[in-house]
Amino acid sequence: MTQPLPDMAERLAGIRERMLRACERCGRDPAGVRLVAVSKTVEPERIRQALACGVALLGENYIQEAREKIPIIDNSDISWHYIGHLQTNKAKYAAALFDMVHSLDSLPLAHALDREAGKRGRVLPVLVQVNVSGEQSKSGCEPGDAAALIAAAAGLQNLLVRGLMTMPPISDDPEQSRPFFRALRRLRDDVVRQLPGCGGLPELSMGMSADFEAAIEEGATLVRVGTLLFGERSYI
Ligand SMILES: *Cc1c(COP(=O)(O)O)cnc(C)c1O
Repeated sequence: MTQPLPDMAERLAGIRERMLRACERCGRDPAGVRLVAVSKTVEPERIRQALACGVALLGENYIQEAREKIPIIDNSDISWHYIGHLQTNKAKYAAALFDMVHSLDSLPLAHALDREAGKRGRVLPVLVQVNVSGEQSKSGCEPGDAAALIAAAAGLQNLLVRGLMTMPPISDDPEQSRPFFRALRRLRDDVVRQLPGCGGLPELSMGMSADFEAAIEEGATLVRVGTLLFGERSYI
């Protein structure tokens, strides 16, 4: 039995407390916001400590790392979300290993994920990643292409489009991120009006260690927090 390290338990409690206070500030039900503990580069032993403290949902960015770590952790009670950029030729691993993919950003990738999920007899929940900031370096589809991609993906038998994801430009100041979070939420609301049959797109994956409270205030349902929980990463 892995004993929770006090510092891990304290950090998790601190994050949950801040999530709660953010919900209170904007009158949201805390049950509507889930913490994705981003465990990229974190070794299995420390991931187990987080699980022992009550983490239930883990986010990974790299397929190769996930292929090694997920079988080592081997815990069917937890959910794994893929949050990194996904190459079409890696769709088979994502469809096999993950409970949700946050980074659907092209039609070829949608087709590849649909095919691979179908081969495994499963329906894969996905989020469409949108580059709301227009930064060259960021992956994600253009905001103007989101509705068409969502409509196409929603028409595929083995994908379930649950919502949208974004990554604003890196900043230590949450107020720099807030307009991008707000833009994602507005885009979601627009697309739902255009596509009433698309299931309402209830999930918004936005907010990281530096800005998750602003993201919650702007409607996030999944916040992706790594550094605040696991400490500084040795790379990335
Ligand atoms: C690394 C990463 C995170 C977590 O970032 P922190 O600043 O460590 O909380 C969240 N989302 C994505 C897509 C990431 O790559």
